[in-house]
Amino acid sequence: MIQKILIANRGEIALRIIRACREMGIKTLAVYSEADVQSLHVQLADEAICIGGPKSADSYLRADRIISAAEIADVDAIHPGYGFLSENAKFAEQCESCNIKFIGPKSKSIRMMGDKAVAKDTMRKAGVTIVPGSDGPVENETEAVKVARKIGYPVIIKAVAGGGGRGMRIAHNDVSFAKEFHVARNEAEKAFGNGAVYIEKYIEKPRHIEFQILADTHGKVLHLGERDCSVQRRHQKLIEESPSPFLTADLRKKMGKAAIKAAEAAEYQNAGTIEFLVDAKGNYYFIEMNTRIQVEHPVTEEVTGIDLIKQQINVANGEKLGFDQGDIKVDKHAIECRINAEDPARNFTPSPGTISLYYAPGGLGVRVDSHAYSGYTIPSHYDSMIGKLICFGPTRKIALQRSYRALSEYLIRGIKTTIPLHKAIMSDPVFIDGKATTAYMEDFMSRTPTDLF
Ligand code: ADP
Repeated sequence: MIQKILIANRGEIALRIIRACREMGIKTLAVYSEADVQSLHVQLADEAICIGGPKSADSYLRADRIISAAEIADVDAIHPGYGFLSENAKFAEQCESCNIKFIGPKSKSIRMMGDKAVAKDTMRKAGVTIVPGSDGPVENETEAVKVARKIGYPVIIKAVAGGGGRGMRIAHNDVSFAKEFHVARNEAEKAFGNGAVYIEKYIEKPRHIEFQILADTHGKVLHLGERDCSVQRRHQKLIEESPSPFLTADLRKKMGKAAIKAAEAAEYQNAGTIEFLVDAKGNYYFIEMNTRIQVEHPVTEEVTGIDLIKQQINVANGEKLGFDQGDIKVDKHAIECRINAEDPARNFTPSPGTISLYYAPGGLGVRVDSHAYSGYTIPSHYDSMIGKLICFGPTRKIALQRSYRALSEYLIRGIKTTIPLHKAIMSDPVFIDGKATTAYMEDFMSRTPTDLF
């Protein structure tokens, strides 16, 4: 049984894991960089070890130092959170070979799903609909143009090793394709150390709808409903909600079955996510699987009442899931707003600095997952998300009203944040009507005066 966990992460997700562990009577070890000495995860964990300099490459990405810390402190398991080493198959393998449980899937599943071309091929073979596109990576421009013409413009060029919305380029004709193909390859090489790209049909104005998967080590695979993550800026999610205002009961059932089939094809264990794009007609296409806990997991927790982090730990302990598909009931609505230290009025430029005053909202149906506090200095080395506001209630209307109310209470002084932007979105008729697609943010920004936020 797991008695002590090293948390190989920082920020709000490190706190989220510490909280679950504390409730389960499990000891925690935080690791941190020199830039995170002040960070709450360091203060709240039972023990903490500094693993290096401020840059991620010198600390949170140093598998060797993290494993040494795990050995020194004698932990049984490592929770990787999201980002950093969470989808690094080699790290998962290293943990296993050191007899430390990796709280996530087997390295084989991470490897299969981490290469997006392999992932799509696996799904196609399993009978899960994928976005039409190239068979695997395309090597050169001549071959690539042929594929693009065959699929039909517009197409999207995506990095095989992509993630975080980076390394994607859209082309509308042969001329723009030639240019974007080279840009995409260079970007992919720089960002992921792997320049391989593949091509997909660009689905216009789709919704991004993903299914939460939970699978134990005894062959049970369940889904916990969907999250609609269509509100995105530059392919990065800003708002997520569950259930999706778009899905009918029938479509939900079909997509849920497809998601389970997809997870089975990946021989999946632990918590994971199957992402789909859905067009206006309700056609759905697999785009990728995320083999980790996701930023937006709280909306699923609030509508199902299931603690996903505790389930992850139980699964890593070899326990059976204590419920079946029929036991999972969604009778609430939850909305999550990502609070980023960015200035939405100035093209979302990062706004690191010291938070002079921090006051988080509360009350019925409000949850705040954040590592921010008054006096906290946000380091400039990591991503800009400083918290998540999750509001929930019996209906979507109440979740929306509650989100607006809670955003109005949320005070973060000293830096710019996305709070005013979220307030404007919560009062926008298109979002209120549940009509947002992945094209929503661009349209919203073009018709909304920036002095509103
Ligand atoms: P990442 O792993 O970088 O997050 P994804 O494959 O999950 O990349 O795609 C992220 C987002 O990019 C999607 O939610 C969607 O908005 C957009 N996108 C990706 N593929 C397509 C496509 N074929 N057509 C239209 N939009 C796409």
